[in-house]
Amino acid sequence: MTRPYLGNPKYTVEILKKYHFVFQKRFGQNFLIDPRVLERIIFEAGVTKDDFVLEIGPGIGTMTQYLAEAAREVAAVEVDPALIPILEDTLKEWDNVTIIQGDILKTDIYSLVEEKNQGKPVKIVANLPYYITTPIIMGIFESDVPVESITIMVQREVAQRMQAGPGTKDYGALSLAVQYYSSPEIVANVPPNCFIPRPNVGSAVIRLQKFRTPPVKVKDEKFMFSLIRASFNQRRKTLANSIKNAQEFSFTREEVEEALKKCGIPVNIRGEALNLKQFADLSDKLYDMR
Ligand code: SAH
Repeated sequence: MTRPYLGNPKYTVEILKKYHFVFQKRFGQNFLIDPRVLERIIFEAGVTKDDFVLEIGPGIGTMTQYLAEAAREVAAVEVDPALIPILEDTLKEWDNVTIIQGDILKTDIYSLVEEKNQGKPVKIVANLPYYITTPIIMGIFESDVPVESITIMVQREVAQRMQAGPGTKDYGALSLAVQYYSSPEIVANVPPNCFIPRPNVGSAVIRLQKFRTPPVKVKDEKFMFSLIRASFNQRRKTLANSIKNAQEFSFTREEVEEALKKCGIPVNIRGEALNLKQFADLSDKLYDMR
């Protein structure tokens, strides 16, 4: 058996049988069974023997085996206790892997990176349930955890939304949030037959290369992001109307139009036409007018 071997569906099925593993729907378990996709993820994540890699949701350890071959050290955080004995088995040939049982949303990633990587920026790689990918990505970006990149499997539509620019139908609050912290690039499309069991949706691997400093400066990030969310709440309305209608603010239409004019933005513009820089400008103007 040449290493890494779990990308071969035959071995995955053997392991699942050996442990009578029962897939848990609530943990969104879809295991990768395509060596080409696995090699691609490792390549696109740019993992080298200098790297400490944090893997979120290792499952039975398929990608973990590839990461362990490529990286200096790997820590893998898995929520399902039933998978821990399996991981101890499938990863026993590698001495550079630490398995941690727990929910990543409750894990002290900061201390982990401090301990394992002396606080240097970490590469994160994950194939996770799609319903928790956004909170995890945003949680990590908004924290002080030093991160170099996140290379992550997501639902194809979500990947497109993260990467979208102004004026496209996929552009929205998620695009702006992701692009404030990182430069996103879709690096692979992955069809359902690369997983067991097959998901109902197409998937894509996206690499988010974190910026050292955000590309725009803004007086209050939280304020800007509530403004952005409000701007996309009513897609068919103009930006001025959406902001005027937003519960969390109490701006009049005149105030919003005045701020737009100060920024040199047409008053009848829709939110989807504004880029990040313009949202930052508008946010600073409105922030001063509260
Ligand atoms: N990465 C593996 C498994 C993907 S399935 C592979 O590609 O084959 C997603 C995995 O994430 C499952 O093992 C699931 O139990 C785990 N998971 C789900 N929610 C999690 C959470 N909050 N924290 C850590 N792991 C989680």
